[in-house]
Amino acid sequence: DGLRELLLSRIADVPDHPKPGVVFKDITPLLADPAAFGALTDAFVSLCERYEADKVVGLEARGFILAAPVAVRAGIGFVPVRKAGKLPGATLRQAYDLEYGTAEIEIHADAVAPGDRVLVIDDVLATGGTAEASLELVRRAGAEVAGVAVLMELGFLAGRQRLEPGLKGAPLEAL
Ligand code: IMP
Repeated sequence: DGLRELLLSRIADVPDHPKPGVVFKDITPLLADPAAFGALTDAFVSLCERYEADKVVGLEARGFILAAPVAVRAGIGFVPVRKAGKLPGATLRQAYDLEYGTAEIEIHADAVAPGDRVLVIDDVLATGGTAEASLELVRRAGAEVAGVAVLMELGFLAGRQRLEPGLKGAPLEAL
């Protein structure tokens, strides 16, 4: 539909970033266009309403930019999931596998509570490892996963398949 075309027109393909052979999806043109950024925000807000989310989790770093205005417009709290070592309070930490090696992300242990329904937002679903680990964190912190919403899914990396068991029936929406 029109939203999809608008969003696609504001995402740039950058070849050989961050390393040779990778085509990086750059969302900075979208962020610089208030009509496109606003339409994206509205679409995420609609998903918050549809899935009755009462918190949004943004994944560092571009997930922060996308999720923060959603939280404000939806009237619900924003919770950051960060790379390990950045959050100042007591945290829960989750490791996950990368192509080469592992990474770790964290959430403040008291950022979500039993009874909360959390929508996880990020820009790109690639292999699905980051999103999968974030769902673990949300559940370990005691909350319920309302869903995962991303701007864009790179289908050829099969992140949806990797994420499927971790969703436990919750929706994955790619705008
Ligand atoms: P995954 O864990 O492999 O799914 O990678 C997803 C994470 O890497 C997200 O937090 C994205 O922001 C980032 N990422 C992976 N590929 C791209 C890209 O092409 N453009 C922007 N971010 C990307």
